[in-house]
Amino acid sequence: MRYISTRDSNNVVSLEKAIQKGLADDGGLYVPENIPQLANQENLNVTNYAEFASSILMPYFEQSDLASSLLLMCKRAFDFDTPFSHVGKNTYMLSLFYGPTLSFKDYGARFLSQCLTEMAVTTNILVATSGDTGSAVASAFSGNPRINVIVLFPKDKISERQQAQMTCWGQNVKALAVDGVFDDCQRMVKGIFADSEIVASHNISTANSINIARLLPQIVYYAYSSTQFYQRHHQPMGYIVPSGNLGNVTAAFFASKMGFPIREIVIANNANRVMSDYLSTAHYQPRETIKTLANAMDVGAPSNFERLNWLMPEFNDFKASVSAYSVTDEQIASTIKETYINKKSFICPHTATAVFVRKQLSDKPWCIVATASPAKFESVIEPLVNVNVAVPEALAALLDKATSVKTIAPTVAALKAQIVGS
Ligand SMILES: *Cc1c(COP(=O)(O)O)cnc(C)c1O
Repeated sequence: MRYISTRDSNNVVSLEKAIQKGLADDGGLYVPENIPQLANQENLNVTNYAEFASSILMPYFEQSDLASSLLLMCKRAFDFDTPFSHVGKNTYMLSLFYGPTLSFKDYGARFLSQCLTEMAVTTNILVATSGDTGSAVASAFSGNPRINVIVLFPKDKISERQQAQMTCWGQNVKALAVDGVFDDCQRMVKGIFADSEIVASHNISTANSINIARLLPQIVYYAYSSTQFYQRHHQPMGYIVPSGNLGNVTAAFFASKMGFPIREIVIANNANRVMSDYLSTAHYQPRETIKTLANAMDVGAPSNFERLNWLMPEFNDFKASVSAYSVTDEQIASTIKETYINKKSFICPHTATAVFVRKQLSDKPWCIVATASPAKFESVIEPLVNVNVAVPEALAALLDKATSVKTIAPTVAALKAQIVGS
């Protein structure tokens, strides 16, 4: 399989090159030249996640040197559970937060780390994060002698536990608190990539959700859960995906375009309503980020819009395939409360957007994608329900570690100084 830029189908590279570069030279995002089509779905074996992952991803690795290691990489990256369960009438939940840093970001970050390790790449990884990406990438790469990680996050805009998970790694992981918002962090990383001199001299790459090696493993859990559902119920299921930068929902569309039994896909946004506005006006207008309770989704200029647009270039086709809801902080808070009162269970604020949207939708079968553990967002949940959210053992161990962080101005120059100085 070869990979092309969303902006130019003549800009063709190998999988390894696409992984190493992250962003294409023309500023586009890499996508596979074509979307592999699923053959004999009936015979798919959904008993072992890593084996399933390897078989689904193999066509994307065709002719790559990584193909022979794919199964091993999947076994190492996905060594935790991916529960898919029935939670209410015609309502299911795909829980993606059993990795080491308790959010779905562990799938992409751990798989990318496996790819780069297998490729024996020496690199400096820059990652802008609204919270969960930073910890997932830091965890996935910590201790890797060939790879330095620089994590940028918006100062004072993430939870204490999120910050602790990003700043506790030391060694090859450097954490920078940017005096700004997430979009500043993202803009600074893009600014560095626009500077070809420093990219070359410091061997810089990215682990943001724009990297194709993060997108590919996210296709797997949609393939896995939709196949399980179809094998049991002989009908396709719809998905509601809490979204910010649109990486996770783009993976759902890839699974659907591959032929997995997915009836429809719904984007659940917080108050950052770029997608709902796009669908109602046919005009894509990035906006300033609004700070919300679901902070990992506080994105005003979602990078992966470009991949969705590549998948569905005609607006009418896009509109027919995508729906988006914008959920307010009040609705998030009341949904967290209600879920606790009715079910005695905690949900994170991001998952709450999808739970809220589920209630607005038809009686057909829907799967809520649960993107993070409530334990990471105790500062939002506890005041609402007046009960302590238990801390899982893995998180407790991280919270005990010493932390280190540096604050920098929201400018490309400030980031450049950090790179050159490290
Ligand atoms: C990153 C994140 C999201 C948003 O995912 P995108 O791929 O950026 O749309 C939602 N929920 C949680 C918990 C996240 O960490």
